[in-house]
Amino acid sequence: MKLPAFEYACPATLAEAVALLAAHDGDAKAIAGGQSLVPMLAFRVTAPALLVDLRKLPGLDRIAIGDDGVRLGALVRWRDILDDKRLARAHPLLVAAVRHVAHYQIRNRGTVGGSVAHADPAAEMPGIAVACEAEIAVTGKAGKRTIAAKDFFLGALTTALATDEIITEIRLPAWPAGRRFGFEEFALRRGDFAIAAAAVFYDADASGRAANAHVGVVGVGDRPARIPAAEAALDGARVDADTIARAAAATSAAVEPHDDIHASAAYRRALVGTMVERALAAAAAASAAA
Ligand SMILES: Cc1cc2nc3c(=O)[nH]c(=O)nc-3n(C[C@H](O)[C@H](O)[C@H](O)COP(=O)(O)OP(=O)(O)OC[C@H]3O[C@@H](n4cnc5c(N)ncnc54)[C@H](O)[C@@H]3O)c2cc1C
Repeated sequence: MKLPAFEYACPATLAEAVALLAAHDGDAKAIAGGQSLVPMLAFRVTAPALLVDLRKLPGLDRIAIGDDGVRLGALVRWRDILDDKRLARAHPLLVAAVRHVAHYQIRNRGTVGGSVAHADPAAEMPGIAVACEAEIAVTGKAGKRTIAAKDFFLGALTTALATDEIITEIRLPAWPAGRRFGFEEFALRRGDFAIAAAAVFYDADASGRAANAHVGVVGVGDRPARIPAAEAALDGARVDADTIARAAAATSAAVEPHDDIHASAAYRRALVGTMVERALAAAAAASAAA
C-alpha cells in the first residue's frame, strides 16, 4: 500500500527535532530506521502530518562502554551491536538477544531507540531493557529526563514517552565478569518476532549459589516483564535441575498471555517456561565449564 501523505523534516540538532515534534502537538512522529513506522504508515495504523527524521542528529549512533555500563545511543542499529566486538565481554546478554532480532536487511536499519519507542511486546530490546534494569534517557520540550525501563513500557505499542520527547540513549548497568546468563527464544522462523523468549542472569556467590537473579520474558503479555517468583526460586539456591524446574514453573504460573493468530495462551504459557528452563540450563552449563 502507498503511504499516506506527510511532510518531512530532517533536522540537524536535537533541539530542532524536539521543537518540530512539540509544534505539531501529537501530529508528528520521529522516524529512525523506519522498519516499524513505515509498515505502520502503509497499514494506516498511524498517519502523522509530519515525520521528523532523526538520522542527522549528532552523537546518537555511539556505543559507549565504561565502568557504569553500556550506553547505546538511540540511533545504534542492530548491526552496530553485532559488529562491536567489545560487547561480547561488556554485555553478552545484549548480543545474544540481538542475534534474534529480525533479518539481515532490517538489522542494517532498525535502531535500539526505535525498538524501545515502538514497544512491541515480543521485541527483544525492550525485554533486555526491563530484564537488565536499563534506564532510558529522553529529551523533550520540558528538558531531559531518565525513565526506568520498568516504568517505560505501559502496554502494547504504548510507552511513557510524551509526544514531544525523543529517546537519546539506553543505559544498561555494568555487567560483572563471571556473570551467568542465557537467552532463549522461540519464533516461527529465525528473525521473526518471538512467540516467547526469556533472558536470565545471576551472579554466583562465594558458595556457588545464585544471587541477584533476574528473569525477564517477552511475548507473553502486553509488555516485557520480570518474573519475581522465578527470581526468588533462584536466589540463594544452587542452579541445578530442581531449581531450574521451579523457576520455569513459577514463570509459567506468573504470566498472562492472550490467544492470538500465532499461538494460544496455553501454548505461550508452557513455552515461556521452557524458554526459562533452557536459558537457565545454558547459564548453569557455562558456570560448570568455567
Ligand atoms: C519483517 C520484520 C521483522 C522484524 N522482526 C523483529 C524482531 O524479531 N525483533 C524486533 O525486536 N524487531 C523486529 N522488527 C522491528 C525492527 O527491529 C525495527 O527496526 C524496530 O522495532 C524499530 O526501529 P526503527 O529504528 O526502525 O524505528 P522506526 O520504525 O523508525 O520507528 C518506530 C517507532 O519509534 C519511534 N521512534 C523511533 N526512534 C525514536 C526515538 N529515538 N525517540 C522517540 N521515538 C522514536 C517512531 O516515531 C515510531 O513510532 C522487525 C521488522 C520487520 C519489518
